[in-house]
Amino acid sequence: MIIIDKKSDCSGCEACATACPVGCITFADDGEGFRYPLVDTERCIGCGACNEVCPVESRRPTIAPRATYGVVNPNRSIQRLSSSGGFFYILALGVIERSGGVVFGAAFNERGEVEHRAAQSSEELAALRGSKYSQSHIGSAYAEALKALAEGREVLFSGTPCQVSGFLHLVPQQHRDRVLAVDVVCHGVPSPAVWRARLSEITGGGKPQKINFRDKRNGWAEYGLAVEYRRTDGVVTDSYTPKPKEPYYRGFVEDLYCRPSCAECPSKGFSSGADLTLGDLWGYEKHSDDGVGVVFVGTERGAKALEESSAEHFAVEYDEVVRHNPSIEKSNPAHPNRERFFGEFAALGSDGKGCAGLIRRNTQKSVTELVAGFVKRKIKLFGTR
Ligand SMILES: Cc1cc2nc3c(=O)[nH]c(=O)nc-3n(C[C@H](O)[C@H](O)[C@H](O)COP(=O)(O)OP(=O)(O)OC[C@H]3O[C@@H](n4cnc5c(N)ncnc54)[C@H](O)[C@@H]3O)c2cc1C
Ligand code: SF4
Ligand code: SF4
Ligand code: SF4
Repeated sequence: MIIIDKKSDCSGCEACATACPVGCITFADDGEGFRYPLVDTERCIGCGACNEVCPVESRRPTIAPRATYGVVNPNRSIQRLSSSGGFFYILALGVIERSGGVVFGAAFNERGEVEHRAAQSSEELAALRGSKYSQSHIGSAYAEALKALAEGREVLFSGTPCQVSGFLHLVPQQHRDRVLAVDVVCHGVPSPAVWRARLSEITGGGKPQKINFRDKRNGWAEYGLAVEYRRTDGVVTDSYTPKPKEPYYRGFVEDLYCRPSCAECPSKGFSSGADLTLGDLWGYEKHSDDGVGVVFVGTERGAKALEESSAEHFAVEYDEVVRHNPSIEKSNPAHPNRERFFGEFAALGSDGKGCAGLIRRNTQKSVTELVAGFVKRKIKLFGTR
């Protein structure tokens, strides 16, 4: 039976609930916006299925990827619409068109919240494209994917490494060769409650129509947050905030409101079992404005999927890639103001008013930190001369 002693022991992948043969696991919000399992001990039969699929309890060993490539979708418009190089879309379309398979990934619902869903056509696939910086709710996605496998179909399952790890624990061995498991390099996942508040603040309580966390109008590295929404008076309007001006990104990358498990990620080091891991090829910004991805090949199946795809790819040095993108190997500690932030966040109204200011105040550097940073940069500069 799942027992959560401390919050970091649960990544919220939701695999335990799908595994439970008597359906006695439900989820409850912890007040920070993250879901945690609740076991009905009266109904639990003590079978241990939940523990076997849990990515925190049943960890796989870390591995070195077989190969590392820079990767780009030759279709420039799809490349620009994707967060990095657009490789996910090629893989996903391949599974749908080649074999009539089903693709699972994260999409926005009509309220702008993030949840996993299935796509079986290029139209449905568009919703899965692009990074969404809020933890995705799995819901019935694992169960639907297992059903598709039982029907003899191919499945591409994509998500964070802990979600992919949980899913692969659920997949019966005899079906594994019809799964293409794709995860992302994962910095961590922000709280859905904080995203809900920030979105509500941006839209003024309006209805979101389109959201893009990685809008590339100013380039791949200089991305921004684009939201199209219907105002409460019915008018459809747009909002765009470039990265340096949007506090939500800062709170995310500084781990002000990421899930506690992300500070001790159970699935780092390519230990999810994924066939392929996708990320941004940071350090390559001067070569492309449209986006370049990095792909780490985890398995033979992943290598085959890459070779058979139409993606443009080129070998890159693993150590060099990690130097520009530390989240590949390391978990990020929570921001020192995390607790204070959530204490103050609880007092915000449902309209999210004040959310941006709250994030700014809690990520602002003190004068001492600014001076220390300045001195550090100067020492570095003199040291390299
Ligand atoms: C929360 C998060 C943190 C990330 N952190 C890093 C990082 O530190 N460094 C780095 O190099 N790359 C990171 N990435 C990955 C990167 O942003 C791109 O998603 C990846 O490079 C694939 O890009 P693409 O152009 O091939 O495909 P895209 O179409 O841009 O990617 C879509 C894929 O992302 C998945 N996805 C999107 N949002 C979520 C979500 N909330 N939960 C689970 N899966 C999701 C979809 O299911 C789909 O598989 C992160 C992604 C997410 C979602
Ligand atoms: S031990 Fe078995 S019955 Fe009990 S919660 Fe876990 S999966 Fe469900
Ligand atoms: S990490 Fe996943 S499987 Fe483990 S307890 Fe949390 S939700 Fe359940
Ligand atoms: S950082 Fe680790 S625990 Fe957090 S969402 Fe990503 S894979 Fe899961």
